Amino acid sequence: MQYTVISLFPEIIDAYFAASLMAKAVSRGIVGYRGVNIRDFALDKRHTCDDAPYGGGPGMLMLPEPLGRALESAGAQRRIAGGEPPGPAKHRVVYLSPSGRPFTQAMATELARESGLILLCGRYEGIDQRIIDLYVDDEVSAGDYVLSSGEVAALILIDATYRLLERVINAESLAEESFTGNLLEYPQYTRPEIYATLRVPEVLLSGHHENIRRWRRERQVEKTLALRPDMIRQGEDRGIFDRETRELINVLGEKKEV
Ligand code: SAH
Repeated sequence: MQYTVISLFPEIIDAYFAASLMAKAVSRGIVGYRGVNIRDFALDKRHTCDDAPYGGGPGMLMLPEPLGRALESAGAQRRIAGGEPPGPAKHRVVYLSPSGRPFTQAMATELARESGLILLCGRYEGIDQRIIDLYVDDEVSAGDYVLSSGEVAALILIDATYRLLERVINAESLAEESFTGNLLEYPQYTRPEIYATLRVPEVLLSGHHENIRRWRRERQVEKTLALRPDMIRQGEDRGIFDRETRELINVLGEKKEV
């Protein structure tokens, strides 16, 4: 996966690619990264990247010209106004924006299949609409809140996608995580057995695999019912729960209503 991040402050993103699991994925050639500084594409002496919005209103907007040049240097193709791109685009262009589609695990899975992503980070009051019309394939939101800039949102998207790439982390950990199968993850414990008077649940020390599996599934259902009943309803609508899970939802759901 090749990530290209277009930003006024690529150093924020650089740091992320230089540490921990991500640095390893880069050195193993699983992930590639290029930061593109929009300011390098502002051709006036002062490298101006923003101006006041037409029609008035608060704040400044990012100018389309430096953004367009930065995007093209990253391989993005300009659409003929209102139409399709002139040829097959190399990489999908994503603009991080509070008015985008809210980012989910399902979108992470879908985006992780791309060979490359060009991520465009806004600042100030955002960017000129014509950049969205001409270059952007998807507008993606980190969630229903307003950030001061797109870099943190881009990092969320990068982090959630690269870890799904083959060989970054093992497939078994991915299969058991929150959101997989519309359930949150079960609680987990490591050493010591007693911490601040709290004991690790007995069943986890028992070595009895079937009981452990059952206990974990119960906790998953219990937790998801309490914190994310919307995920339970959606899973039911899609018919993705197995019989055991459906029974647990009935039993634990009723207990909750009493
Ligand atoms: N005036 C805009 C907010 C601009 S915030 C509005 O009301 O919609 C400046 C930049 O931060 C945006 O261009 C975008 O890139 C980024 N940003 C802010 N909130 C975000 C969110 N929830 N998800 C993704 N990007 C966000």
